Amino acid sequence: EAKKDGKSTYRFYQSFMEHHYERFLLKQELRRGIANNEFVLYYQPKVDIIQRRTIGFEALVRWNHPEKGFLSPSEFIELAEEDNTIELIGNLGLDEACKQLKCWQEEFSNKQLTIAVNMSARKFFHSDLVHQVQESISKYKLPYSSLVIEITETTAIKDFEHAVKIIQKLQSLGVHIHLDDFGKGFSSLYYLNRLPVNAIKIDRSFIQQIGQGQKENPIVNAIIAMAHSLNLDVIAEGVETNVQLKYLLGKGCHIMQGYYFSKPLPADKAGDYLRRM
Ligand code: C2E
Ligand code: CA
Ligand code: CA
Ligand code: CA
Repeated sequence: EAKKDGKSTYRFYQSFMEHHYERFLLKQELRRGIANNEFVLYYQPKVDIIQRRTIGFEALVRWNHPEKGFLSPSEFIELAEEDNTIELIGNLGLDEACKQLKCWQEEFSNKQLTIAVNMSARKFFHSDLVHQVQESISKYKLPYSSLVIEITETTAIKDFEHAVKIIQKLQSLGVHIHLDDFGKGFSSLYYLNRLPVNAIKIDRSFIQQIGQGQKENPIVNAIIAMAHSLNLDVIAEGVETNVQLKYLLGKGCHIMQGYYFSKPLPADKAGDYLRRM
């Protein structure tokens, strides 16, 4: 018996160590990848159905790994969030997104395009964020109003009072703040009512339920109605079908993003997309 226990303890210990060792290696890899400029942004269009136009893009990071190919954030974001590597990736992302937007604003000056950047909690609460935003915006001579920063509810409620202050500072510059993955977290209406964001993005998981049998989707309806009554814009992410598009439009949500319009694209393909529009 004792021997058996010893064995399974050892096996547990071994897999525990392997797990940690793997994470350790991946972290080293992350640092190497940053030093080697392996992180690139993909861009997914945001469409306003009523205005019948693309209003901008959301920048989504990809890791172009020399052996593993393109890795999506689910494969490294969580680990990067454990230390400051997420901030390093974020620094590259903010600047690169602004740079790219400048190119598009020059080529498509009639389109009034915006860029949305995802912000980790770490970077959002970092004392230097406002300064960095000012730097990138002035470096590329962009209007502040063309930058959108997406934060999640989880980020906002980590330190609510502080979050409100940062949001207000960014908004006073003209930057817009969108509340990402709305409905997925557990934050209450009490918080939402006091969070001075410009828009909420309905989480993809709710959009995917549209057209799955039930005629009405009470949660989606409620989120849209609530956004309207709080005077917030509402954006649907993960729209994949015409049924979903029509449903959302019928409920008064007309800003959408998802595979139905386009997958996230590398910068040159996103440029082609704009030229076709
Ligand atoms: P998110 O901000 O909720 O981004 C939307 C995710 O949904 C993206 O996944 C996008 O590719 C995917 N998506 C868009 N339309 C559809 C659709 O119609 N169907 C389906 N099935 N999926 C769709 P992605 O690019 O893998 O990013 C995952 C998450 O990683 C993002 O979720 C965001 O939270 C995070 N992330 C991405 N880029 C960055 C970044 O630069 N910084 C930080 N901090 N986080 C990032
Ligand atoms: Ca997002
Ligand atoms: Ca989202
Ligand atoms: Ca999401």
